[in-house]
Amino acid sequence: MKTLHFPSPIQSITFDNHHFYLKRDDLIDADFSGNKARKFYYFLQNDFPNVTKLVSYGSAQSNAMYSLSVLAKMKGWEFEYAVDHIADYLKEHPHGNYKAALENGMSIIRKENISSNYPESVLFIEEGGRQKEAEFGLQALAEEIISWQEDNDVTPLNIFLPSGTGTTALFLQKYLPSHKVYTTACVGDEHYLKEQFLALEKDENLHPVILSLEKKHHFAKLYKENYKIWLKLQQQTGVEFDLLYDPLGWRVLLAYPEVFSLPTLYIHQGGVLGNESMLPRYERKYKDIDKDIL
Ligand SMILES: *Cc1c(COP(=O)(O)O)cnc(C)c1O
Repeated sequence: MKTLHFPSPIQSITFDNHHFYLKRDDLIDADFSGNKARKFYYFLQNDFPNVTKLVSYGSAQSNAMYSLSVLAKMKGWEFEYAVDHIADYLKEHPHGNYKAALENGMSIIRKENISSNYPESVLFIEEGGRQKEAEFGLQALAEEIISWQEDNDVTPLNIFLPSGTGTTALFLQKYLPSHKVYTTACVGDEHYLKEQFLALEKDENLHPVILSLEKKHHFAKLYKENYKIWLKLQQQTGVEFDLLYDPLGWRVLLAYPEVFSLPTLYIHQGGVLGNESMLPRYERKYKDIDKDIL
């Protein structure tokens, strides 16, 4: 069994002349990294002697799909993944997460073939790992943060991370009750994210704070502002961020100076393998961008 790199390092970065701390969960492992490594850690750490197959569903380029393919391979399980739709181009020219997951042995199935009643030999995982087992690895993340603060005398500390299903932000807030966890909705809108929080935790006082930009934002759409801030992050910090969540995350964080008036920790949740499919799209669409004046 391969060993994962815990605790992930925390480094200091300067972005747009502001100081931030950066939790490098993208460095946990080359294959099994970021918040999916945290969310699926429970399944990695425990033995499931009866399980022979993993089944899940979601989009054909998702980070969760790729991480599950790594998990299944590590465990010696079959891996079936249901999608609604795969673009013809992707089918004919596999790339990014999809290609890597196929190489790990993933089989694509139809959504109709997902059962509501699996035998014990099948482990079914919700889209994006949105389930209670995620709590296990996210508690460990919270503990890493607290022990880093103690070792480095960093109190107080605000936390910021961009959300999809909100599972990571919610459980982090649960295990960091004396911190404020701030997030933004990347996949749906604020109302969607609030509902996700409520499904996991009824007490709203225990929810992260949701921050937003005024303009509506659509997931996976190519925004010039997102591309620009992603390039600028790379130039100024030397770190590659993901192209789906982090650009909006950083734009939102910079729009709320009251958050980073206290020392602030940004969580890098991995996902850079997905850039392989997003980056060429951005490069084609904004080929005239002047990288010297972002
Ligand atoms: C999955 C993912 C997210 C969203 O995580 P949630 O727990 O669903 O909010 C954010 N960033 C990256 C890079 C991801 O892969």
